[in-house]
Amino acid sequence: MGTGIQYLPGVGPKRAELLQAELGIATVGDLVHLYPFRYIDRSSIVPIADVQPDLAQVQVRATVQKVRLFGKNGVELPPEKLKYNAVSRLSAWVSDGSGEMEMVFFKGVKWMHEKLRPGNTFIFFGKPSVFNGKLNMVHPEVDAPDNSPAGVLTGVYPSTERLKNGGITGRMMTKLMATVLEHILPTLQETLPDYILKEKGLVPLTFALRQIHFPVDQTALGKASYRLKFEELFLLQLSLLKQKYVRSRSAVGFRMPAVGDAFNACYNALPYQLTGAQKRVIREIREDMRSGHQMNRLLQGDVGSGKTMVAVLSALIAVGNGYQTCIMAPTEVLAQQHYTNVCKYLKPTGVRCALLTGSTGAAARREIHAGLQDGSIGILIGTHALIEDTVQFRALGLAIVDEQHRFGVEQRARLWNKGWQGVFPHVLVMTATPIPRTLAMTLYGDLDVSVIDEMPPGRKPVQTLCVGESKRHAMHNFIRDEIAKGRQAFIVYPLIFESEKLDYKNLELGYEEIVKAFPLPQYKVAIVHGQQSAQEKAFNMDAFVAGRANILVSTTVIEVGVDVPNASVMVIESAERFGLSQLHQLRGRVGRGAERSYCILMKGTKVSKESQKRLDLMVATENGFELAEEDMKMRGPGDLEGTQQSGLPISLNIASLAKDGLILADARAYAQIILDQDPTLEKPANAPLAAELRKDKYLSKDYSQIS
Ligand code: ADP
Ligand code: MG
Repeated sequence: MGTGIQYLPGVGPKRAELLQAELGIATVGDLVHLYPFRYIDRSSIVPIADVQPDLAQVQVRATVQKVRLFGKNGVELPPEKLKYNAVSRLSAWVSDGSGEMEMVFFKGVKWMHEKLRPGNTFIFFGKPSVFNGKLNMVHPEVDAPDNSPAGVLTGVYPSTERLKNGGITGRMMTKLMATVLEHILPTLQETLPDYILKEKGLVPLTFALRQIHFPVDQTALGKASYRLKFEELFLLQLSLLKQKYVRSRSAVGFRMPAVGDAFNACYNALPYQLTGAQKRVIREIREDMRSGHQMNRLLQGDVGSGKTMVAVLSALIAVGNGYQTCIMAPTEVLAQQHYTNVCKYLKPTGVRCALLTGSTGAAARREIHAGLQDGSIGILIGTHALIEDTVQFRALGLAIVDEQHRFGVEQRARLWNKGWQGVFPHVLVMTATPIPRTLAMTLYGDLDVSVIDEMPPGRKPVQTLCVGESKRHAMHNFIRDEIAKGRQAFIVYPLIFESEKLDYKNLELGYEEIVKAFPLPQYKVAIVHGQQSAQEKAFNMDAFVAGRANILVSTTVIEVGVDVPNASVMVIESAERFGLSQLHQLRGRVGRGAERSYCILMKGTKVSKESQKRLDLMVATENGFELAEEDMKMRGPGDLEGTQQSGLPISLNIASLAKDGLILADARAYAQIILDQDPTLEKPANAPLAAELRKDKYLSKDYSQIS
């Protein structure tokens, strides 16, 4: 399996290099695990006469009639003296006897021009559409015709233009794969123990590999792909759960048996009842903290679900046992807001709390350092300033990180290392970005997860509207009405880094427009964005939080955490440019106090289908987990906001977190059963599993510090 592919017949060093560069394939083993991403089946080829524009994707088998090239303004270019860089479109008219259609290419024109010779037959795969009343397909996949009998499936492998130019065509890949299989299948080791194959009804690895590449029929293909998906997800979960087991056994944590007076004082003075979910989560955290093992817990809760209270009570457990707590927030504004809130809750307890950020002055800083070292400060709140080396605790027992995805892994590791006498503090990571269950199981598979799935009473639903430019006036009038009722409004502009300058220009133009529509002295408008100094930002933010400004125009800096209960309107400009979870976060800024709150999604004139779907979803539901699930289905898990930094622990080859949630849940439950009986995989029957988990891809990460 580890043999280099250059030794395979027909490959050689040049093509081997190309395969490595284009597809990351170095060894024979890599090659067998490059699976077809779809299959050509002659029985599923549609006659052109039956092609409908509303069909999803179709395959037609057709012969090229004529090919024409067009320049910039749709002017046809004569074939003589042809310069490919002047071509902006290639059209090929193809026919299968039942009818004719046009295949359109805007890219890869030279290659297609050479390939699509009139008289030659190909299989075209793509989405049919209608242009000027005629059927066409834009950028279909083009494959050599498949001469296998109907019902036989031919795999189509990922490819690139460079690969094809280098002679590695689809046909070549198929031949290579056949050679490789013949070569390795006879000696291939089964990776899953026999008893698992039996209990889960899985086909053997040799069968699965042969059928995934050369399926005899749909049933065999289905069995093969199920086996490979199950195996992939099962091994991943097994490795995550095993690490969790090892850690919970070995990672000593501070034992915090008491609840303590501070906790009780705070609890008894609460102005409201905790929700059932808050109580449950606090119980879970309390169990962890007194267990003697290090806690590593992720707390998920939608915006406004009351995570701060949970953080405070957890901190007070640590304080009540003689330890200190730090709470780290991603921005200065948020740290400040946490500080204000926490101080309020701490009043009845007498616990001392301090705020440390980049703008804390030298004198105050010295005082904080002293208070941390003599133990008089129980809770330290701050930005990443609190992980600097100069910040030393007397006994840090609990580290709470808010909105974890904004911190890098390394920053978090530095925080963990601030423990006491070589022991890591307990760790509680809070996130308001709901993560679909399947993704959480993988990303945070080795963490304990608590979910606050219940909103505090009194949270009002937010009415969401999606409108176009023509409603801008009406939107302004609506805000005026709300301000007349004593309410405030957010207006948010997108900020996308590639065109930062342009974005700020939009923001500033928007601000000018708002100031004109809402003139002084009747209205006050504040503006906050990332290019302001910390003071400027804080000044404007404060004006809005304190109610001195009626409107806050900003970029997404207000996305996380900021709490202004009196705000009742959230306007999101160019809403189509935001991702679902970001839209959801922004909407969560309203609905916290006012009788009725509104989220107005302003959309531009050019909105893709995909973006429109996001906007429709926003209008349809307020449930963050539902939105996260949909987001994952639409964009694939790798792209989910809030997860790019942590990334998937390993990349999946065949299974999809978005589509294979059921297999994943089954695989995880099964992995747990196996570990319950054999936690360290020492039984002879489990030897193949132990061997798999020793592979690099499962070893490379230290999950206890990824959180
Ligand atoms: P999160 O950080 O999860 O977005 P917060 O902790 O900021 O949410 O809480 C949102 C608001 O709800 C705060 O104003 C808080 O005081 C209030 N709150 C929290 N828990 C409760 C509860 N059990 N009952 C009523 N209000 C609550
Ligand atoms: Mg919060």
